[in-house]
Amino acid sequence: MTLTTTQKQRIMVTGGAGFLGSHLIDYLLGEGHSVVAVDNLITGRLANIEHLANEPRFEFMELDICDAFDPGPVQYVFNLASPASPVDYHAHGVETLKVGSYGIFNSLDVAKKYGAGFLQASTSECYGDPEVHPQVETYWGNVNPIGPRSVYDESKRFAEAATVSYRRYHQLDTKLVRIFNTYGPRMQLNDGRVIPNFMKQAIRNQDITVYGDGSQTRSFCYCTDEVDGIVRLSRSAEELPVNIGNPGEFTILEAAQKIIEVTGSTSRIIYEALPQDDPKQRRPDITKARTRLGWEPKIDLETGLKLSLEYFKMAVAKEAVAS
Ligand code: UDP
Repeated sequence: MTLTTTQKQRIMVTGGAGFLGSHLIDYLLGEGHSVVAVDNLITGRLANIEHLANEPRFEFMELDICDAFDPGPVQYVFNLASPASPVDYHAHGVETLKVGSYGIFNSLDVAKKYGAGFLQASTSECYGDPEVHPQVETYWGNVNPIGPRSVYDESKRFAEAATVSYRRYHQLDTKLVRIFNTYGPRMQLNDGRVIPNFMKQAIRNQDITVYGDGSQTRSFCYCTDEVDGIVRLSRSAEELPVNIGNPGEFTILEAAQKIIEVTGSTSRIIYEALPQDDPKQRRPDITKARTRLGWEPKIDLETGLKLSLEYFKMAVAKEAVAS
C-alpha cells in the first residue's frame, strides 16, 4: 500500500510529537488524511502537537514502541521514533538502541498486520565520519561501532537492515530516507544541536560555542523541504535508501556567523572541545532524489533561519519566564 493522494487514509507516525514528526503530521492532515501519532515523549513534546487538540482526524497514543502495540488498522506507517540529537541520544543511549531494534520490529509488525506501506526515517549518520564526499547512497559508511555516537548510528543502521529484511522476507512495501541535519520551528531549545544552540545563544547575546575550530561542515535542510522529500519518497517506487538533505554545505563557523547576522546579535564566537568522533564533513549527493522523486530543496540556510527566528525568540522568552 502506498500513500495515496486520491483516497483518504489512516496513517501512523511514530515519534509524532517530535519536531520533524509534527511537521509531517501537519502536512498529512493538510492533505485530508487521518493521523495517529505515537510517542513515549522521552524527547518528543506535547507542545508540538497541541495545536491539533481539536482536530477530529488526529489521535495521539502515548506509548513506547519497544513494547508490542496495536494502533488499529492503518494504511501507511512513518517510523520516526528515536532520540535524534547527540545530546539526547547520549542521555538515552540504551533507549536509542532499543527503539532501533525492538521498536522497529514492533512498527514493522504493525505495517505487516495491516498490509500498510512503511517508511523508515534513517540518517546521514549511517555514513559515520565519511571518507566519500559528498555522500552518495551506495557508500557504506565509516562508523565506529563502539564510540559515543554508536548508540544512534548503529541503531539506525540496524533499523535499515530490519526494514529491508521485511521487504525481502515479508514482501512489505518499504522505503528508507536518509535525513541530513534538518532544522526549523519546534526544535527543542535544549536538544544540544547546533542550530538551536546557536540561535539561543545569539538571541541572548551570549557567547556562541563552536566545537573544535569550526571547520567541520554540515548541510542544513529546512523542515518543510524535508517533509516534501519524505512524502515524495513514500509515493515513489524507490526501494533503496534515498538521501533527503540540502546540498548547501557550510562550515560550523560559517553557520555561527550566519546566525549572528540573521539575529542581529552582539554575541562573540568562542571555541570549545570537539566531541569524539564528530564527523568532519557532511553533504548529501541528491542526484537520486532529484531524478527519481523530482525533489529539490527550495529554502536556503539564510531563508530557513529567518523563517525559524520568531519561533526561537518565543522559545527563549518562554524559558526566561519559566526560570
Ligand atoms: N556544534 C558546535 N556547537 C554547538 C553544537 C554543535 O560547534 O553548540 C557542532 C558539532 O560539534 C557538530 C555540528 O555542530 O560538528 C553539528 O552538530 P549537531 O549536534 O547539530 O549534529 P550532528 O550533525 O553532529 O549530528
